[in-house]
Amino acid sequence: MLGGGVPTELTEPLNPYRSAMKGTLTKPVRCVALDGRIGEAVCCSIYDQRPSPCRELEPWDANGQPDEKCSRARAAHDLPPLDPSKGVPPPGKPEPLAA
Ligand code: SF4
Repeated sequence: MLGGGVPTELTEPLNPYRSAMKGTLTKPVRCVALDGRIGEAVCCSIYDQRPSPCRELEPWDANGQPDEKCSRARAAHDLPPLDPSKGVPPPGKPEPLAA
């Protein structure tokens, strides 16, 4: 169950009981709801409706260090872990990308 009111047309079935965001079950992984260029500027186009796994993922752990899952996702796109010395953005909804 994705939760969060995800538009069903952006999902595909994992099994009879669960779904996943389109684009996340094949390599290279690229969620259909992701706008922008990875490594430059990206934004979730359904942020307020994003599924529960996305709501639960935090880029930083409780100690202000890069979260392990976030770092793995970045590594899949040849990006290094986030750098805490560059500042930890405040929690909350990020700004949308400029058109
Ligand atoms: S947060 Fe990322 S993975 Fe989740 S729905 Fe938005 S673009 Fe897709």
